[in-house]
Amino acid sequence: MARIGFIGLGNMGLPMAGNLVKAGHAVQGFDLVADNIAKAEARGVAVAPSAVEAAKGVDVVLTMLPAGKDTLAVWGGGVLQAATPGTLFIDSSTIDVASAKTAHRLAADAQMLSLDAPVSGGVGGAEAATLTFMCGGAGEAFERAKPVLEAMGKRVIHCGDAGAGQAAKICNNMILAVSMIGVCEAFVMAEKLGLSHQALYDVTSTSSGQCWAITSYCPVPGPVPNAPSNNGYKAGFASALMLKDLKLAQEAASAAGATTPLGAAAAQIYAMHNAWGEGSMDFSGIIHLIRGKGR
Ligand code: NAD
Repeated sequence: MARIGFIGLGNMGLPMAGNLVKAGHAVQGFDLVADNIAKAEARGVAVAPSAVEAAKGVDVVLTMLPAGKDTLAVWGGGVLQAATPGTLFIDSSTIDVASAKTAHRLAADAQMLSLDAPVSGGVGGAEAATLTFMCGGAGEAFERAKPVLEAMGKRVIHCGDAGAGQAAKICNNMILAVSMIGVCEAFVMAEKLGLSHQALYDVTSTSSGQCWAITSYCPVPGPVPNAPSNNGYKAGFASALMLKDLKLAQEAASAAGATTPLGAAAAQIYAMHNAWGEGSMDFSGIIHLIRGKGR
């Protein structure tokens, strides 16, 4: 079993660290918020007095932070220097590809192994240890990370070199956003055409329009019992986080010279949804914006 330093014990990091403890790893954790540290302690995480201390004497340092600037501030703020050379650094935050590559470079300069390993599956997946990890980095780093990540998820995929995990994550979420908007447009159009939600679901869930936005997160209450639409659109995956990922996708598309007109439109539509006041609701709640009412 590994000794692990875990930095960032928020909505995702807290249950992930808890699952590492359950799997028998020795976890020492740190967060800026005292309440989060107390909750982690209740899940068997040893408290480290600072991020730097959390990285001392461990085999693996895992970060689960809000954005690229946070990962760079933590890794570059003394944490890499505090760890033993050869320590594996894993960043599971969703961050921009450029910052992810910079983080890998900082780690290599400090003689550490590193992996970008963002997740999909949300808070529910983090609690249930069913996350999907999309990994970017050297094969050696991936092989060392795999058993650790498997304690928190059910799929661990090596996507390629440094930054490839973040690239896979934003590509996936761009597809999800575009398909969710399309599904919502179809359900609202069906309402105007006098077609029932259930009938449209029965057809599209088994026809060529079939996609995850229909079969798992159907944006109207009824057809999919576990979908957020049956729970007052409580996230789930918050619209604000979808907007964050779409902005990262647009930054990456622009830097790489990729043409993503639907991704750009989706970013605009989710920005409107957030400005409309539904940023904390599930991203399937975008159907309210498309319908023009219904909150
Ligand atoms: P969160 O805001 O709940 O947690 C982030 C934690 O990092 C906070 O507790 C904060 O106090 C801590 N933190 C910030 N700076 C720090 C520092 N310098 N040192 C120590 N701790 C610090 O966010 P979250 O929902 O847990 O998401 C974390 C990451 O995972 C984000 O990048 C997010 O985009 C990604 N993600 C979230 C979800 C989701 O459904 N919540 C799903 C997939 C991916």
